[in-house]
Amino acid sequence: MVSTSWRRIKEVLAGISAGTIVSVRGWVYRTRSSGNIVFMTLRDASGVIQVTIKKGNLPDPQFEAAKTALIESSVELSGEVKEDPRAPGGYEILARSVQVVNFAEPFPITKDQSPEFLLDQRHLWLRSRKLTAALKIRSTVVGAIHQFFRDRGFYEFDAPVLQPNQCEGGSTLFEVKYYQDKTYLSQSWQLYAEAGVFALEKIYNVGPTFRAEKSKTSRHLSEFWMAEMEAAWMDLHDITEIAKDEVRFVIGQVVEKNPDDLAVLERDIETLRKLSKAKYPTITYTEALEVLRTKAGMEVDWGKDLRTVEEDTIMKFFETPVVVTNYPLEIMAFYKPPDPKDPKTALCFDMLAPEAYGEIIGGSQRSTDIAQMSERLRQMGEKIENYQWYFDLRRYGSVPHAGYGLGVERLVAWICHAENIKDTIPFPRTLLRFRP
Ligand code: ATP
Ligand code: MG
Repeated sequence: MVSTSWRRIKEVLAGISAGTIVSVRGWVYRTRSSGNIVFMTLRDASGVIQVTIKKGNLPDPQFEAAKTALIESSVELSGEVKEDPRAPGGYEILARSVQVVNFAEPFPITKDQSPEFLLDQRHLWLRSRKLTAALKIRSTVVGAIHQFFRDRGFYEFDAPVLQPNQCEGGSTLFEVKYYQDKTYLSQSWQLYAEAGVFALEKIYNVGPTFRAEKSKTSRHLSEFWMAEMEAAWMDLHDITEIAKDEVRFVIGQVVEKNPDDLAVLERDIETLRKLSKAKYPTITYTEALEVLRTKAGMEVDWGKDLRTVEEDTIMKFFETPVVVTNYPLEIMAFYKPPDPKDPKTALCFDMLAPEAYGEIIGGSQRSTDIAQMSERLRQMGEKIENYQWYFDLRRYGSVPHAGYGLGVERLVAWICHAENIKDTIPFPRTLLRFRP
């Protein structure tokens, strides 16, 4: 090798090293040869570049090795950077030395394969350009969430993944054997966060969340990552404004850091730029039903939860996310309190995303009424003893507090304009799949 100071392909494509010799390493993305010349496209995490390998420009055994290296072989090479308007990215490398690190076997993934086959081959399909782009955006999103809360004085706070209680309804719990006993995988960080706010006041977390979702949808995973926040002394209005700021901030960070990845995904960056600055409206559930009735001729009985079709229909009339507050109390989780101004509704909200991406955030103020919560839990068949620790939080210096959870994959799916939430997580777990 001429040099072992490796360049990222993206840096080479930036043109600063035109005319000089560079060393790059990565994987064969495409290759074709005719006689004494090999046209190879090389991929690394940062991009792809065309490499022209001519017999005579490098030792013969190296040329022969380059010629026989199949797609996804790993390669280290060096050569001269040349401007070439016909090459993708505008630059190519004329190879002077090529070392095949590993000759790949024939790659099992070829064009036009079924989604199920690609999920079986997920460990290899991760290398595809679109998935790579989506995962880079996911990384920006998670980093931005951490930054957003830390900048505002929130502490990162971890909850146990193994939990004895349900939070979001018993029907989606994953049961785990726990020595001689049984426990459940976390459905939410929230109940523990409610303990945490009495020590740290403002806390957040991005963590794995598990729900046995028994229907197949393009929005539900069995294992997903939820970004949650909880804060003492805050009410519903306070947290809806934080949620709007958070989503705008995250989108702004992706616009700034991932323009190339958005281009790979063919996602219009201007749409996102506008969304990072727009005002997001707040309406009530009752007003949302009005939108459905007057604008779409859809009648929904007051008291019913909004289904996917209704959420999507409402959002046809908005270009930004919308916060919907005050859902009917009856259909809400036990910890959501009634609104004193309208007690048949709860002090809660969902944020719905436009472009038919549905709910991305759910949150609420938290009830401080032990009797009311006990009654709701009893109706659900829960053992009240299991919740005594949670009720203690209302017995020792209770304060108003509120919080919400944002589905990381739902937000990434919307930002990427992905067809399915599975395109936003490395190894999706769903009703039908937990392999590889
Ligand atoms: P849905 O009605 O869509 O099932 P939910 O009301 O059960 O959502 P919450 O309990 O409010 O959701 O959870 C907070 C957020 O977590 C949701 O707004 C969503 O973004 C995300 N989320 C919930 N369930 C899933 C899931 N199974 N897969 C991926 N994300 C999810
Ligand atoms: Mg759900």
